[in-house]
Amino acid sequence: MNDGLLSELHISSKNHEEILALLLGSESSFAQAYAGHQFGGFTKLGDGRAIVLGEYLTPLNQRFDIQLKGSGRTLYSRGGDGKATLKAMLREYLISEAMFHLKISTSRSLAVAKTGDLVQRETDQEGAVVARIMKSHIRVGTFEYARQFGSTEDLQALTDYSIQRLYPEVLNEENPTLAFLKKVISAQIDLVVNWMRVGFIHGVMNTDNVAISGETFDYGPCAFMNAYHPETVFSSIDKNGRYAFGNQPNIIKWNMARFAESLLPILHSDPETALKLAQQCFSEFDSIWVQRFYKMMLLKLGIEQQSTELNILVNELLTLMTNLKLDYTNTFLSLTYDIIELNSPMDEPEFQTWLDKWKKTIESSTGFEKAKKVMIENNPAFIPRNHLVEEALDLAVTGNNELITQLLSVLSKPYQYQEDLKHFTTPPPEVFENRYATFCGT
Ligand code: AMP
Ligand code: MG
Repeated sequence: MNDGLLSELHISSKNHEEILALLLGSESSFAQAYAGHQFGGFTKLGDGRAIVLGEYLTPLNQRFDIQLKGSGRTLYSRGGDGKATLKAMLREYLISEAMFHLKISTSRSLAVAKTGDLVQRETDQEGAVVARIMKSHIRVGTFEYARQFGSTEDLQALTDYSIQRLYPEVLNEENPTLAFLKKVISAQIDLVVNWMRVGFIHGVMNTDNVAISGETFDYGPCAFMNAYHPETVFSSIDKNGRYAFGNQPNIIKWNMARFAESLLPILHSDPETALKLAQQCFSEFDSIWVQRFYKMMLLKLGIEQQSTELNILVNELLTLMTNLKLDYTNTFLSLTYDIIELNSPMDEPEFQTWLDKWKKTIESSTGFEKAKKVMIENNPAFIPRNHLVEEALDLAVTGNNELITQLLSVLSKPYQYQEDLKHFTTPPPEVFENRYATFCGT
């Protein structure tokens, strides 16, 4: 049970049994229909193992969906059992909490509860549900569903509803649908830039897993990158690296193009004008991406200015990190606190040349004191290291919650480096990393 989230939602009851009984005993619930492009191919989908219990309105008028995942078969389960394993649901809880504290827009986990069922996977495992809290579960795939299988009126109704619920500020715009499209694209660019700030690989960026709200969700095969390489992939089914770390910007652009296509019939009454309006949005995409991506990377280096020359400094660092197989998180941590031993390959002469250049840049601008402050805000010291996550989950499913509780605590203050927690910054051995594989619907 997530007490922090309970109080943020202004749920005053401290009685966990009572809250669980409410969640699990709810009689009104529904599964949502949606479609989606999975690894590029269009499919009719839907909540196959999740149900929305309802909406929750906080005293501050913030509206959230409460969803149960792993709650059994629905109309959309196809061949699946509708269930989820305890390990997978604890993984979602742990990583979504970590993402929240990393200051990244995300769904959150209110509680994980064992169901008492045995779930058949490669081996029989304990079943569980997670109660997921999100601004909205409407996704790109919901719009694809409306476009393909509904009428223009349905599509308009879904758009009106989504605007009202998530982006009411666009109602005053001349073309609210166009403004809505731009808002969603912008939110998704911000989200993926933020993922890349902390080395997060979502792993299954199918259009059904892309929320209109701009929240990260569907924590299946996600993982965090240790040694920097843009081609890093952990998902066992992502054989071609479609969702590799460095391909995430291309994919979000592709996904947003599918979203724009779905909106075409209501973007303008004249189809040609509608197409032109959508194309205009995309002609701006790359320059917006480049601007925001380098802004983020420069902040990781403590630099608040922006210029093409400074972007080169970033590119040079990324090339060095690739060649020297530097740990992504620890490189920035070492630069922030000037502790090379956290990442010893930084001692290499080629790195020293870059380091001198970076130091000169800082000296000639804001100076180190200010830069350090900016770097602390933008570079996490602690991320959910893959090997620690696995170890914690393997222990938790045997009833030993010691490590998962410790991890949740460390990851609740990811930007506060503490010398005595140094072992949480150690990357896994290369052999672990090379064999590490993550899975979707476990
Ligand atoms: P995901 O890869 O988690 O986004 O899932 C893709 C689709 O498969 C979604 O429509 C899920 O609802 C469905 N799905 C995943 N796992 C199961 C399961 N165990 N039973 C039924 N449907 C599932
Ligand atoms: Mg999904």
